[in-house]
Amino acid sequence: MTKLFCLIPLILCFSVFAQKSDGDREMNQPVEPFKIIGNVYYVGASDVTSYLITTPEGHILIDGGFEETVPQIRANVTKLGFKLEDIKILLINHAHYDHCGGLAEIKKLTKARLYASPPDASVLEDGGMSDFRFGGDKPLFTPVKPDEILKDGQEIRLGGSVLKTYFTFGHTKGATSWTTEVTENGRKFTVAFVSSLTTLDYALTNNPKYPQIAADFTKTFAALSRIKADVLLSSHGGFFDLTEKSAKIRAGAKPNPFIGAAEYQGFIKRMEKAFQDKLKAEKASKK
Ligand SMILES: [Zn+2]
Repeated sequence: MTKLFCLIPLILCFSVFAQKSDGDREMNQPVEPFKIIGNVYYVGASDVTSYLITTPEGHILIDGGFEETVPQIRANVTKLGFKLEDIKILLINHAHYDHCGGLAEIKKLTKARLYASPPDASVLEDGGMSDFRFGGDKPLFTPVKPDEILKDGQEIRLGGSVLKTYFTFGHTKGATSWTTEVTENGRKFTVAFVSSLTTLDYALTNNPKYPQIAADFTKTFAALSRIKADVLLSSHGGFFDLTEKSAKIRAGAKPNPFIGAAEYQGFIKRMEKAFQDKLKAEKASKK
């Protein structure tokens, strides 16, 4: 996987909230929505992801994509036979414009309640201006105010579904992941919605804007390693071969190509190694 995800390169001179590069547009191509497993559906774009968890009492949506992803999410939810207005809860894996840019609009359309971790909540509220790396004196996306501030370990319940919250800080100061249990063909599976875990061009040592960044990443990888997940989902399709797996699932592949505990653990290990290698290199270069 050679692609760089999330905000690299970030071109700061673009006008208000539009997608900022060809890379952004490439990540935001329309794709057919589909059922991933149990009551979890894919409603996002080609690479920036959005997940719908459906229940008899309304639905949960994880991530709003770019501002330009909203019409796709809306069309995808409808195509699957659900109603956008039935979305009651909005969640966000981390407050960067390729995942939260659409939240303000989706919130308006659905009147759903937005939940966010304390650090990401303040970044969402100021449109990214206080982001430790990309913030500045202009908003990077339409500001959106969360209705509920999450706690680590909090269980979000709706219509019989439970999402467990994991604070997985590092990629942003408030990056957040969830797990949920689903049933398919009479078997139970744990689905993990993992936040971005990349370190981009961040300084991991002596970072005055985020002094505890390395400690946060370390805690994040420890927490994620303890999860026994059967299905890996994440903020960018490239992290878990979304394109390939969705092609298989549409072709009716059995068993479900999204099921794979080893893949979840392998992903967490790979991301942790990339973080550790970068941290070591940084420490060595500063000696
Ligand atoms: Zn990001």
